[in-house]
Amino acid sequence: PLSITDPVESDRICVCVRKRPLNKKEMAKKDIDVVTIPGKGMLLFHEPKQKVDLTKYLENQVFHFDYSFDDDATNELVYRFSARPLVKTIFEGGMATCFAYGQTGSGKTHTMGGDFSGKNQNSSKGVYALAAQDVFTLLKHKRYSDLDLCTYVTFFEIYNGKVFDLLNKKAPLRVLEDEKQQVQVVGLKEVEVSSVDNVIKLIEKGSACRTSGQTFANAQSSRSHAVLQVILRRHKCLHGKFSLVDLAGNERGTDVSNNDRQTLVETAEINRSLLALKECIRSLGKNNEHIPFRMSKLTQVLRDSFIGENSRTCMIAMISPGMSSCEYTLNTLRYYTAPL
Ligand code: ADP
Ligand code: MG
Repeated sequence: PLSITDPVESDRICVCVRKRPLNKKEMAKKDIDVVTIPGKGMLLFHEPKQKVDLTKYLENQVFHFDYSFDDDATNELVYRFSARPLVKTIFEGGMATCFAYGQTGSGKTHTMGGDFSGKNQNSSKGVYALAAQDVFTLLKHKRYSDLDLCTYVTFFEIYNGKVFDLLNKKAPLRVLEDEKQQVQVVGLKEVEVSSVDNVIKLIEKGSACRTSGQTFANAQSSRSHAVLQVILRRHKCLHGKFSLVDLAGNERGTDVSNNDRQTLVETAEINRSLLALKECIRSLGKNNEHIPFRMSKLTQVLRDSFIGENSRTCMIAMISPGMSSCEYTLNTLRYYTAPL
């Protein structure tokens, strides 16, 4: 296994794909699994009913990623190859960002949040808690323990282009950009933490705030981006920041019929922000000078993450394996591969 202080590849962006198992509901409906992971970093999308012959996978659609995770992969395994190599970045004074991307129900929250505490027997911790664990391990590491770093957490949601504080009763917040192009979320609650338990409590609190109450709030949560940030400060100055982003479901762009006005507005906003994100990430990959972060609130708030020598990003694309999801699945797979 990789040690947390091992050198990491210099690539600034790592793109992974994770397939979830068919669930009970899909099996009851006799949905067919149309996704296979034939090898490292590969994902095969095949026609339903067609018998899959792995030796002939080139006849099907193959997508290439840095890593691909099959439906039996644990959160720990996914974390180890995606977000974990980025933890070190924030200790070295850089910005790290991990995105979970995919349609609603594909496993974004399962991967990021998981069972926060890992107390539940049948579930496991997600990227949030695993990253927090590693941050506290590294704080004690001899290489960083003299830096005098303090750790803080913020947790907020971006819904319809507006920011809401999940650690402060969903208070709406303004985003300001100063002359130096520093972006600030005014009044965002930043809580100092001194243990993994502290962080987990905040994640629980914020997640409950995200989806609390009626089904309306639940439905809304799939249309919002949730951003958890672990911030390192040295003598109050920003040292490094890890943003863990559970993105809004990407499925709503395709069916514009039969939707009320509110849904259309939401859809337009989600499409805009996911497009902006794609452009920002691609310019990051190419080391472009111009990064169009102002295109959406999401990318504006994450501006820090797209600039600077020392920023690194990983994307985890979540895949529902069923035939019934194939349109959205192809959408997700093409997010990285299709030309702009
Ligand atoms: P999303 O956040 O993308 O809408 P969820 O993470 O809520 O999707 O996942 C939907 C359902 O599928 C949840 O009940 C979740 O526990 C389950 N699930 C998702 N990914 C996996 C996986 N890799 N293994 C087992 N169950 C999963
Ligand atoms: Mg979710």
